[in-house]
Amino acid sequence: MKRPAVFLDRDGSLNVERDFLRSVAELEILPGVLDSLQRLHAAGFLLIVLTNQSGIARGYYDESELARIHEEMHGRLDGLPRAYLHCPHLPGLENSPYGRTCTCRKPADGLLRQACELFEVDLERSFVVGDSARDLQMIGDLPLGGILLRSGKPWEEELAKLRAADRSPDLVAADLSEACDFILAPRA
Ligand SMILES: [Mg+2]
Ligand SMILES: [Zn+2]
Repeated sequence: MKRPAVFLDRDGSLNVERDFLRSVAELEILPGVLDSLQRLHAAGFLLIVLTNQSGIARGYYDESELARIHEEMHGRLDGLPRAYLHCPHLPGLENSPYGRTCTCRKPADGLLRQACELFEVDLERSFVVGDSARDLQMIGDLPLGGILLRSGKPWEEELAKLRAADRSPDLVAADLSEACDFILAPRA
């Protein structure tokens, strides 16, 4: 049976934006995130993390360190996210095997498509939540809601980028808790 999902950006949305989170020691979950995920889970939403991790292409950390970070995060988030899908790429880095153009780096929608192959998602009742313009640009023409968070990158700049791309979020929220209130609000 199809279920609604919340596609969650990671850095600046679930955890403190570090300008490349390189190790478990730097991981700090934002206030209210665990409670929000519990509420969304209780309401039947699939929770899926979609994250650009070009730090791998740049050589700042590797796939195994990223796996350790996600394992730690999974523990602190009560095991609620069903999947963590990442893009390790960055175009134009010739000395990295990941230094190429791909279809999964947001704003491309490859990670979203991967998630929809893994799970049966009711897109019309689903949302993308993130602190970057590119998180919401990933939506493209798909029938998903989009919420921009103010908890990570400078949000006025991200909102301006979205407007320049002719997109406007359904909501600009202080943090995941406020996004969660909006998602769970009764709709006519
Ligand atoms: Mg982010
Ligand atoms: Zn990629």
